[in-house]
Amino acid sequence: MAILGIDLGTTNSLACVWKDGRPELVKNSLGELLTPSVVCLDEEGNLTVGAVAREQLITAPENTAAAFKRWMGTQKTFTLGEKTFTPPELSALVLEKLRRDAEAALGEEVTEAVISVPAYFNDNQRSATKLAAQLAGLKTERIINEPSAAALAYRLASGEEDACLIIFDFGGGTLDVSVVECFENVIEITAIAGDNRLGGNDIDEAIARYFCAYNGIPQNVLSAEQQAMLLRQAERCKCALSWSAMSVMVLPGPDGTTYNLTLTRDLLAKLCEELFGRMKKVLARAIRDSGRGIGEIDHVILVGGSSKLAVLPDFLGSLFGKPPLMLDDPDTIVARGVGICAGIKERKGEIRDIVMTDVCPFTLGTSVVDNDKDQNPHMAVMIERNSVLPISRSDRFYTTRDNQEKIRVDILQGEEYYAKDNLKLGEVVITVPPEPAGKQWVKTTFTYDINGVLQVDVENTSTARKKTAYVVNPSLHLSEEELERKLQELAAIRRELTQSEEEQLLLATAERIFAESTGRLREAVGKVLTAYRGALEDQSPSRRHRARKWMKEQLDTLEKYQDSGVFDPEIPDSWEDDGR
Ligand code: ADP
Ligand code: MG
Repeated sequence: MAILGIDLGTTNSLACVWKDGRPELVKNSLGELLTPSVVCLDEEGNLTVGAVAREQLITAPENTAAAFKRWMGTQKTFTLGEKTFTPPELSALVLEKLRRDAEAALGEEVTEAVISVPAYFNDNQRSATKLAAQLAGLKTERIINEPSAAALAYRLASGEEDACLIIFDFGGGTLDVSVVECFENVIEITAIAGDNRLGGNDIDEAIARYFCAYNGIPQNVLSAEQQAMLLRQAERCKCALSWSAMSVMVLPGPDGTTYNLTLTRDLLAKLCEELFGRMKKVLARAIRDSGRGIGEIDHVILVGGSSKLAVLPDFLGSLFGKPPLMLDDPDTIVARGVGICAGIKERKGEIRDIVMTDVCPFTLGTSVVDNDKDQNPHMAVMIERNSVLPISRSDRFYTTRDNQEKIRVDILQGEEYYAKDNLKLGEVVITVPPEPAGKQWVKTTFTYDINGVLQVDVENTSTARKKTAYVVNPSLHLSEEELERKLQELAAIRRELTQSEEEQLLLATAERIFAESTGRLREAVGKVLTAYRGALEDQSPSRRHRARKWMKEQLDTLEKYQDSGVFDPEIPDSWEDDGR
């Protein structure tokens, strides 16, 4: 039974399966790849999803819901006719349509899916996505980040395994920029940045505003329906410029007159100037957070429907000094990546398992009071935003009152200074012996894996008491066995974190040579060993990878020259990629 890969987009959704050794996009009941993520209540009172609903956005906007992905994980509701829907319920309707259409196209039942979400989605938003799948009759064990999916698709299409990529995902409502490093079987997101008010819709609006100004139409005279029509016209003309030099907008005016505007690429570029300015900032932030120089980026990969914007390649090309890469159809890349992920999940022999290490898109921490003047607990950061996962960090927290009997460790997620302004995921309470303030303490360890399991260990050494809390997508209750499996995966990752087999071998070999040698040679081997041990403290898979490569070279040289006693290693200052 096929696992369905789903790109559940704000504007459009797509499905893809792994078939005959490659990802295959699945067409919907209309024979199209893209299904608009729009739900409407039609005149007969039926719920309809997709292109039909999208048309109704113009004719009956009050009975139509769109862009609900923006509200996943919040309390917002949508009203269609008499009924109220939550964002997961609306998403479930989209997922259900994708599932049914896929069943018809594939001729088999579909009960399991892999779904992509934006890398910045927090636990609540991920849980809401899983809930939507559950409501649509789809079991979803794996959620994949959209940029990781895009990178997977790029690797398979290009055959290039080692690359530092910018995934430039420009969709209907948002711009998401990720720096993704690929090597061997690892895909690592090293930074993410975005603007959730910068998408194709904003371009449509800029065009519509210009249209009104150009034709002298005051803002408020257009009816809701006319405004929707104007936006659709703007979008149509924007898209047409991808293949033709100009396109014409026409809107019916009063008394049989018409308003017109001829849109050219030059005009489009001018209307996009402000948006491009914001785009530049997002790109700069992503590159800065990744710790890379602009020259170290191998390719900019265009993803998302708006990447087809006629004037975009010129803008990005001049920014990076080389043209961005457009692989086939940018609006299907994420879906193809999710399809590959579904293939990996099915453990199809023809595809190698890929380790996807992601960044933690939000800060995790606990609350502390450490200032007499301000008794409001603030956030003590344990895991910084944009840390590479999996990651483990420890810290000590002390009692603040005399004879305090308990220490409570809150588990918080968010970027706000005050604890109460962040999302509380859970807590661990541990008893400590009553003593003067500041005498007793707990060692607290946060371990976060790539499947969204956060483990918090709290230990009071004086009593050897220890408590552990697991936060597994808190608003969704997992079955016992699912939790068990996740915990096993977590344990495996932690083992891997401490030392991979290859790293152990390198260390052991170096230690052996150290023991065998004497004098200057021994000193040099010691230096190499120290440098390499330092690298193993590092949590970043890519830096550890480079350290491994370097260590292998050193050992090769040593094996060759050990007898001659000549070995003069050059110790790198850092394990960052210096382009070698
Ligand atoms: P999302 O990821 O938000 O679901 P998509 O990646 O499907 O969105 O992108 C949808 C957006 O792509 C829409 O705003 C649409 O106008 C825009 N788009 C599609 N084709 C083109 C094109 N040829 N030129 C410019 N924009 C386009
Ligand atoms: Mg998208």
